Amino acid sequence: MTDCIFCKIIAGEIPSSQVYRDEQATAFRDINPAAPTHILIVPNKHLDSVNQMEAADEPLIGHLFSIAKSLAAEAGLTESGYRLIVNTGAGAGQTVFHLHLHLLGGKSMNHLLG
Ligand code: 5GP
Ligand code: ZN
Repeated sequence: MTDCIFCKIIAGEIPSSQVYRDEQATAFRDINPAAPTHILIVPNKHLDSVNQMEAADEPLIGHLFSIAKSLAAEAGLTESGYRLIVNTGAGAGQTVFHLHLHLLGGKSMNHLLG
């Protein structure tokens, strides 16, 4: 996707604070953090959102969660807790249309959503 900001970050065309990279996924710090730890975990292949996901993508999406678990542990959040968010569609607050998992932690968060 030529016009996708996350594809450009993955390609190294736009700088980011990268914290993890493998053949399938990349993780980098959110430019506008909503918590002391705020990392975005993204598939290297472009998918607009969960709406574009197919059954064949299930291992890839599961892999994003495994990365989140590891990065949360690295950040010391395993016991204190962390939140994983996938906004899907503008009405849910998605602003970048390259599927991503937010990893948020390091402050107390209430139970309410939205
Ligand atoms: P969404 O609202 O789509 O769920 O989340 C998009 C996130 O991407 C936002 O939290 C926003 O701060 C972050 N973001 C947008 N542009 C950039 C960028 O150029 N670099 C980084 N690191 N994060 C970005
Ligand atoms: Zn993209």
